[in-house]
Amino acid sequence: MLAFSSSCDDTAAAIVSDSGQIVSETNRHQHRVHEEHGGIVPGLAADHHLRNMPLVVRETLEKAAMRMEDVDAVAVTRGPGLPASLSVCLAAGKALAAVHAKPLVGVHHMEAHALMARMGAEDAVRFPYLCLLVSGGHTLSLVVHDVNEHTLLGSTRDDSVGEAFDKVARELAIPWLDAQDGGGPGPALEALARDGDPARFALPVPMLKSASATSLDFSFSGLKAHVRRMRERGAFSPAVRQDQADVAAAFQRAAADHLRRKTALALAHARAALRTAPTCIVASGGVASNHAVRAALAAVAARNGLPLVCPPPRLCTDNGVMIAWTGVERLRRGLLDPYTIDFIQRWPLDRLRHMGYQPRT
Ligand code: ATP
Ligand code: FE
Repeated sequence: MLAFSSSCDDTAAAIVSDSGQIVSETNRHQHRVHEEHGGIVPGLAADHHLRNMPLVVRETLEKAAMRMEDVDAVAVTRGPGLPASLSVCLAAGKALAAVHAKPLVGVHHMEAHALMARMGAEDAVRFPYLCLLVSGGHTLSLVVHDVNEHTLLGSTRDDSVGEAFDKVARELAIPWLDAQDGGGPGPALEALARDGDPARFALPVPMLKSASATSLDFSFSGLKAHVRRMRERGAFSPAVRQDQADVAAAFQRAAADHLRRKTALALAHARAALRTAPTCIVASGGVASNHAVRAALAAVAARNGLPLVCPPPRLCTDNGVMIAWTGVERLRRGLLDPYTIDFIQRWPLDRLRHMGYQPRT
């Protein structure tokens, strides 16, 4: 399965075998391009995808010593995301698939994050499972019943957890790590937190008040604002390394504790209200590579007698491999798409059977 991906600011291609072996992969980051603008500039992102995509695909085939004839099918990211970016991988993937008469699979970016943990571990990560997607744009808990079948349990009311990490990193004046070290400043905040005392500053765990304590949703804007107000009133100085480390550690602990509580609630809801018996808890998305977050989720899993499964960190953040693997999973079930598919900018993960994918005929 050859995958093309240009959903946000990474141009990626990957070849994954039917059994889930990574044959080759290439990823061109654009973090440096957007860093000076303080966020992703859609037009700039699309320009870079347009320039990089042919090189990325060429390199991926060369590294695998394969030609298009040797590829069994093509997967492309179809949404959700920036239209101008998505158009690049769709146009490239559709054209190559059509010219070579290969089956085409359009992939939902968040389904790909959710299915990544199954690659090479299908016996361990059996359906249904509880999945926590903690990334730059999303914070979701869901039951993954099968490919194409997801029940959304909770989502964020405001910022995603990845955004909160990124904004707090900015409050602390933490520079972004080199793109090779992972997406966004989250890994740098985590590295700093290792030297910090999480007890020095008391940060409020979100949604502990009774009205929202039983909600399955998440909220991170209050926590982020708390750190901002602390900086404004001079409770810490971003120029003092120990202050930076202590705030980073306190923030990380509060964020992880919030995720732990809401994951425990989601699991209880899945079991009682949905009458499902999740086989494990999966966490994926960039923030799932954070060790404090993993430890918090491992505690929920252990208390409930379930394993916690997370993809390796580099496969938690955006990558082409997850698109290829989702292509493999969908192709196996005959979930193919016509060469005429377009991008879907807003595409709720629990609407896959009703939106975008046509029922099989
Ligand atoms: P989405 O999938 O929702 O569209 P995305 O693909 O941009 O978003 P990812 O690449 O999965 O998101 O994750 C990037 C986010 O994860 C960034 O906010 C980054 O700071 C955060 N992140 C990555 N590694 C870590 C870490 N070790 N600790 C905390 N946060 C992290
Ligand atoms: Fe992502």
